[in-house]
Amino acid sequence: MRNPRIPGLSKSGTWRNWASSAMATPDTVAMPRDEAEVMELLGAANDTGSTLKVVGGAHSFTPLAATSGTLLSLDHFSGIIRVDLPTNQVRFRAGTRLRDIGRLLEPYGLALANMGDIDHQSLAGAINTSTHGTGLAFTGFSGAVTALRIILPDGEARECSPTLNPGLFQAARVGLGALGVLTEITLQCVPRFKLHAREEPEPLAGMLESFVDRVVLSDHLEFYWFPYTDTALAKTNMRLPDDAPLDPVPWHGRLISDELVGNAAFAALCQVGAKIPATVPPINKLAAKALAVRSYTDQSERVFVAPRRVRFREMEYSVELAALPEVFAAVRTALESHPQKISFPLEVRATGADDTWLGTASGRQSAYIAVHRYAGEPSREFFQAMEQVFVHYGGRPHWGKLHTRDSSYLSSVYPRFDEFLAQRDAADPQGTMLNEHLRHILGR
Ligand SMILES: Cc1cc2nc3c(=O)[nH]c(=O)nc-3n(C[C@H](O)[C@H](O)[C@H](O)COP(=O)(O)OP(=O)(O)OC[C@H]3O[C@@H](n4cnc5c(N)ncnc54)[C@H](O)[C@@H]3O)c2cc1C
Repeated sequence: MRNPRIPGLSKSGTWRNWASSAMATPDTVAMPRDEAEVMELLGAANDTGSTLKVVGGAHSFTPLAATSGTLLSLDHFSGIIRVDLPTNQVRFRAGTRLRDIGRLLEPYGLALANMGDIDHQSLAGAINTSTHGTGLAFTGFSGAVTALRIILPDGEARECSPTLNPGLFQAARVGLGALGVLTEITLQCVPRFKLHAREEPEPLAGMLESFVDRVVLSDHLEFYWFPYTDTALAKTNMRLPDDAPLDPVPWHGRLISDELVGNAAFAALCQVGAKIPATVPPINKLAAKALAVRSYTDQSERVFVAPRRVRFREMEYSVELAALPEVFAAVRTALESHPQKISFPLEVRATGADDTWLGTASGRQSAYIAVHRYAGEPSREFFQAMEQVFVHYGGRPHWGKLHTRDSSYLSSVYPRFDEFLAQRDAADPQGTMLNEHLRHILGR
């Protein structure tokens, strides 16, 4: 049965991700309502030698969720199961969208500790790819997972935590969707808080020199760089108690910074740049000049995320935090000497180390550099050039963003890669949860 409500699935039965960088035609699609249905579908795929993938919000750029077998959406698995107030640990159904979590946690006086740029993802999708925001005192989503429940292809459910099935727990905290179907996730949450945000253009050279120090002093620091300019747009979010007064962005502020620079007008500029590449450097200089100082205070979930209506493709690598200035300089040189002109700003963030096996910040404080290409333009050659630089510095690709790494490279940058593979193979000996992309990156 075709079900158009499955994220990315068209009426004709073709599935596409948000960026249209992955496509598939599943032979079966389903939106189960309970675990018994998941077990039945998984068991059927396993017994017939077929494959099964779960799609969350379809926001990964890589074809992690693509399948010609069964495609599941866990959109019915949404909401809170229980809240443990002394510890602030919250058990969620795994398909819960990040955009719903602020509202769900509000009655308990809780919030997510950190978030990325958008909130369309499902919780399970975010943890499967090591999705992250910025802030050295914080980890990505996977680092906040304290327990989970997974249905394995043998149709059995396993409870996992640091003490229950600990190996499976570690593997499934960043599981790439390759072990089984997550149905429940417990997250360490924090008391609700507000964020004071300040956005300010400043010289790129000074930002690069000071980033590694400033990221220690600021709760959440990131910056954007418009290629061919000397300007960085710094975004600094400082945490405030929940009773701090609100001072949200006025509508005209939103119009200029979010719509003009980030969305509608930016799309128009990208279209001009795609048609006449020589206009990209002057357009970027103009866009950098249009950036204004802006500060506001709002509830954390409203400050962390921003609308992203211009479609693009993205590659993001994490590197050792201390190496950021050197890696960024190499990226800049490669970008500015590349024949294609790049309209999209680069984004730079940092997080603390976590103890997951396949987290992009596993075992090291990390900086992230993200490069983008407007969806209407070819991206392969440009990303290849950027990837050469990232790989030279031992970078780790974001699992949900475009990259071409295979298992031999990935095992060299993830010390626990083989342990992950052992857990994966034991959980799914027939390869029911694999697809072509996973076979390539896992060497299976
Ligand atoms: C516009 C945009 C902005 C983004 N911003 C950020 C950002 O700020 N920070 C960042 O780190 N990343 C960011 N990303 C990447 C994004 O967070 C990840 O790719 C994330 O995985 C997408 O979540 P999803 O729910 O769409 O998952 P999907 O892409 O649908 O799936 C991702 C993986 O999870 C698996 N999966 C999903 N649900 C389950 C389940 N229940 N059980 C088992 N496996 C499951 C899928 O099979 C697949 O392997 C962004 C992406 C876009 C398009």
